[in-house]
Amino acid sequence: MKTLCVLGSTGSIGVSTLDVIARHPQDYRVVALTANKNVDDLYQQCLQHRPEYAVMVDADAATDLQSRILASSADQVKVLSGTEALAEVASLPQVNTVMAAIVGAAGLLPTLAAANAGHTVLLANKEALVMSGTLLMQAVADNNAVLLPIDSEHNAIFQSMPAGYKIGQQAHGVRKILLTASGGPFRILPIEQLSSVTPEQAVAHPNWDMGRKISVDSATMMNKGLELIEASLLFSMPAKAIQIVIHPQSVIHSMVDYDDGSVLAQLGNPDMRTPIAHSLAWPDRIESGVEPLDIFKVKTLDFEPPDEARFPCLRLAFDVAEQGGTRPTVLNASNEIAVEAFLESRIRFTEIPKVIEQCLADVAQATPDSLDSILNADAKARQAANEFIKHLTH
Ligand code: NAD
Ligand code: MG
Repeated sequence: MKTLCVLGSTGSIGVSTLDVIARHPQDYRVVALTANKNVDDLYQQCLQHRPEYAVMVDADAATDLQSRILASSADQVKVLSGTEALAEVASLPQVNTVMAAIVGAAGLLPTLAAANAGHTVLLANKEALVMSGTLLMQAVADNNAVLLPIDSEHNAIFQSMPAGYKIGQQAHGVRKILLTASGGPFRILPIEQLSSVTPEQAVAHPNWDMGRKISVDSATMMNKGLELIEASLLFSMPAKAIQIVIHPQSVIHSMVDYDDGSVLAQLGNPDMRTPIAHSLAWPDRIESGVEPLDIFKVKTLDFEPPDEARFPCLRLAFDVAEQGGTRPTVLNASNEIAVEAFLESRIRFTEIPKVIEQCLADVAQATPDSLDSILNADAKARQAANEFIKHLTH
């Protein structure tokens, strides 16, 4: 029996995770669910999945949830509140598997807590890995935890690695990773129109249905930049051995290029329940609810190199991946602030990379030697990004 804590259970990944679990009630038990402040959805999830714990980070939302729970048939659910409660439920001894699906840097501490507790960590929250340097990978290794990638590309790469391959190792006989990208909603938009795109246009992804932050990241291609850093950490590969390939159909989810000329790929419909089911059942396989791939309907698979003039975030991420230090932390934090400002219509779409570039130039870039230095760099970058945005405001 796998016993789960789902961090970020009301989000896109969280909901897909609970959908897969509900198909196999005999194999999975939900011990804890967490959300930021979406009371309605967390309450419904509590009624359906009957966890031991439900965490609402927001205090008012927790009070609201508590009173609804007490008046319901699920009155055994313990409601907790605050950020510390996230780490608490992620490290419970009766949990063995943690789905890390909080969006952004807010997911770092609970994900680290899960690794420190030696649990199996299913990692969707790429920002937690990107910002942490090698800290999260080290916590996994030191505590005999298991890390499995949920991000569809990294899950595809993991599935295409040699038999017995363990995340974090250098893979024998692999010379290159081909990291595929859809190119997002603005792949062919006339480039001069990019400065006036709206948040609604940016979050309308052609192939994937995702949360708002990652949807904007896909539109700027910073998502692929974060994934480049993520792949470099998960598979111990230098950035220059990771090639980004635009593949608009999103059917191949990434590829591994071997020394002997073999290229292995994982294919499937673009539905996150496939990588979620793969990681939940690993090394076994389970039914996920995903439509079987109709290869005749797909017909053609296209590939093209990314356009760096259109997507300046790619160059920023590549440089950061090569230079290291606290740069990945600064890149991630300033991107989070810039995306939020864009979603609130305070800056233009094309100003997102400008905010990040400015922060990378301004904020200290020492080698991160501790969690404190990472959290410090994260806080400084957020402050610098907010300052810069104030000057940009139209
Ligand atoms: P989402 O916005 O739909 O959901 C985010 C979840 O995190 C919600 O449950 C929300 O309540 C919770 N949350 C938000 N802010 C929080 C905070 N400050 N503290 C605690 N909890 C908080 O996001 P999503 O699309 O499900 O993405 C989640 C993560 O998975 C992201 O890191 C994203 O990059 C990654 N990911 C998502 C997809 C996808 O298809 N959606 C694919 C690959 C990777
Ligand atoms: Mg991805």
